Amino acid sequence: MNSSELKNWDKEYIVGTYARYDLVAESGKHAVCTDTDGREYIDFTSGIGVNSLGFTDEGWVNAVKAQLDRIQHTSNLYYTQPQIVLAEALVGRTGMKKAFFCNSGAEANEAAIKTARKYGGRADNTIITLNNSFHGRTMATITATGQEHYHQYFNPFLDGFRYCDANDTAGLEGLVDDSTCAIMMELVQGEGGVLNLEKDFVKAAERIAADNNLLLVIDEVQTGIGRTGKFFAYEHFDIKPDIVTFAKGIGGGLPVGGVLFSDRCCDVLKPGDHGTTFGGNPVCCAGAVEVVSRIDDDFLAEVVAKGEYIRKKVSEMNGAAGISGLGLMIGIKPSDKKAGDVVAEALEKGLMLLTAKDRVRLLPPLNISYEEIDRGLAILEDCLK
Ligand SMILES: *Cc1c(COP(=O)(O)O)cnc(C)c1O
Repeated sequence: MNSSELKNWDKEYIVGTYARYDLVAESGKHAVCTDTDGREYIDFTSGIGVNSLGFTDEGWVNAVKAQLDRIQHTSNLYYTQPQIVLAEALVGRTGMKKAFFCNSGAEANEAAIKTARKYGGRADNTIITLNNSFHGRTMATITATGQEHYHQYFNPFLDGFRYCDANDTAGLEGLVDDSTCAIMMELVQGEGGVLNLEKDFVKAAERIAADNNLLLVIDEVQTGIGRTGKFFAYEHFDIKPDIVTFAKGIGGGLPVGGVLFSDRCCDVLKPGDHGTTFGGNPVCCAGAVEVVSRIDDDFLAEVVAKGEYIRKKVSEMNGAAGISGLGLMIGIKPSDKKAGDVVAEALEKGLMLLTAKDRVRLLPPLNISYEEIDRGLAILEDCLK
């Protein structure tokens, strides 16, 4: 089957929730994707921040295959080892107390929202989130998402969410009352345009949460697991969250999401309060254990160095008006062109890129080589000008 036949086949049978780019991915190695016509593309997307170790990393593939040969699934009614190994590794890296595993970012945030509401214990619990945020696509998480664009259809939404502008400490303070149980935020707003929060605001949010007995929930679904040059982005901000949610990058390409709880709230959820059939699947967790074990301090130093290298090169390009983000999570505001046009043009020339609002967004594999970076940046430079 040629690629245009495949595209028509897709249109006939797949619900049209995506305006897909014109690429039929066949195989991949490291940061290079090959399509069905044998054309190569440099990947600056990692499948939206998921393939932390690039395509078909040997160590990751071996870890997944080894678990697949042992046992693939039991449900959470029974114990399996990879899930516990992964939880211990995450707790050891963070000083958080316990983990819950699920399959996606939205589910991780659902678990955080349910925990915060049970912790609040009132009939009218409220959670404060930020305008321009993104927390997922389920009913609770699109309600938590502070963007009108996501609130157009699907009525009624959930009660109990209030929205604050990012970096508006007085506004945040003004929204807190007796009903408030949590503050939930990303530290670099990903889908919202790769916008970095100010450290003073994040520190103030931590203080406001502590003063009012609120849980501070940090959504690290996009920023977590090494993406920003720290294991979690909250380490850049010198805070100690009560709840951290993660997903995208941890599974290395398999669906893993999860929540880390501090000692303050790690026993809020009791048997029967929450659960998932697939969550903590041993094959997915075996892949995640490999990903987490590879992201050590030397690896993170490389992420920082590569992020700085890309930023420097992009800042010297014609057509780049502004650069945002942290580590290998990079937003570029084109000076003249639309971000979507840059991304479309780049794909034609052999580079996979993302958009985030009016910015071009780069989320390359964390272990991308300098040679792959240079190949990608040469195309990006061509498309920005
Ligand atoms: C992608 C994303 C989510 C949703 O994750 P899914 O796995 O698509 O459900 C939630 N929060 C943030 C910050 C994200 O970037």
